[in-house]
Amino acid sequence: MENSVVIFDDGNHKNLLLEDFGHGEMVQANVHMIVDNGRGIILDPGGHKVFKHLISEVGKIIGVNNLDYIFLSHQDPDIVAAINGWLMTTKAKALSSKLWLRFIPHFGVDKFVIDRLIGLDDEGGIIKLGETELYILPGHFMHSPGNLHVYDPVSKTLYSGDLGASLGQDYIFVEDFDAHIQYMEGFHRRYIPTNKVLKAWVKMVRDLDIETIAPQHGAIFKGKDIVNKFLDWLDDLQCGIDIMEDKFKIPNNKLEV
Ligand code: FE
Repeated sequence: MENSVVIFDDGNHKNLLLEDFGHGEMVQANVHMIVDNGRGIILDPGGHKVFKHLISEVGKIIGVNNLDYIFLSHQDPDIVAAINGWLMTTKAKALSSKLWLRFIPHFGVDKFVIDRLIGLDDEGGIIKLGETELYILPGHFMHSPGNLHVYDPVSKTLYSGDLGASLGQDYIFVEDFDAHIQYMEGFHRRYIPTNKVLKAWVKMVRDLDIETIAPQHGAIFKGKDIVNKFLDWLDDLQCGIDIMEDKFKIPNNKLEV
């Protein structure tokens, strides 16, 4: 498994960060995998360029037939673009918010596999993986209107999709939270619609026992101290329409495009 970083491993249960196989113009993306007693779920597996590397990696880790789920936190291309390949080469079910069921097929989903693309209600729910259960949590509006997150109670890892995303740092685990803010701030201020939704989400996840928060882009928050600093930061963050109301003006700048 030379291409994966082990986040948790107790022998029966593993949480892996598969190496970023993205290159060139593609935004850096983390692909996460949870394995329990030989059964697997892959989270936000990305587009066509990374597909063939990831599918062979999954083959090496558990065997493609033991992949039970492909989790799609939302509808962005860095998450769903290769969904047809995943459904064609595995027996897994793809889970997404119901909001995207009629949009994802625009990436080209074969009629023989479309019944394994499953839409989830806004409430999320609990799914079985191997001998354990995973919680699928509402993460709506952060940033997508139909957005879901995954909490794994065995490793106490919260997979937060684009929430906590960072770009430009050169480390995998956040050590100094204050120094890390600069890599997250731009994205969160512009993509998250309002502080109100952050507050609702923070209130919900404070009821979970969290050791690790693992976003889909950038560095991972590991340890309760860093996790709490991140939650406190989100709780106070002004973003989206909180700070952008004055942008709604008729433009008078000529574009040279
Ligand atoms: Fe996104």
